[in-house]
Amino acid sequence: MNRNQVLPQVQLSPDPSALKRVDFCAPQSYKGAGFLSISELPRLAEEASTVVPGDGFNWDVETHFEDSPGSDPLQILELGLKGRLHLVCQRCLQDCSVDLAEQRRFILVSTEAEADDYPLEDEEQEPLVVSQQFNLLETIEDEVLLSIPLIPKHPEGFCEPHA
Ligand SMILES: [Zn+2]
Repeated sequence: MNRNQVLPQVQLSPDPSALKRVDFCAPQSYKGAGFLSISELPRLAEEASTVVPGDGFNWDVETHFEDSPGSDPLQILELGLKGRLHLVCQRCLQDCSVDLAEQRRFILVSTEAEADDYPLEDEEQEPLVVSQQFNLLETIEDEVLLSIPLIPKHPEGFCEPHA
């Protein structure tokens, strides 16, 4: 049975407070998109060297169920991130704009044990333990934090000359 044909698709609210409580245990799929400013992502705000207008991240999320032989259908979450923040350039120590674009795929599971059973070598998709009040905002922020370069730098030749 293809559950996608019978399950309702629910529009995710772009409101950050609504993103903190998403019911991924309900028999429905989600679709949504929005923009989060740096101020709505407090751990990222700590990393940012400065915040200029327009800094922040566009996100889009879509979930669906995939048939899995011999078990319940798998719930898949696709997350897209695209945006910009400012970090300290490690070459000239001035603010440097960093653009990020990421696409992630998760298999939603309901327990840590199920996540532990998941093969580590699968880099295409990771297990994500979800709940009835899952904090999707935190996951979006986690993924941005994981994507930022360890040693941010201006492109070669674009550093600020020392005053
Ligand atoms: Zn620089």
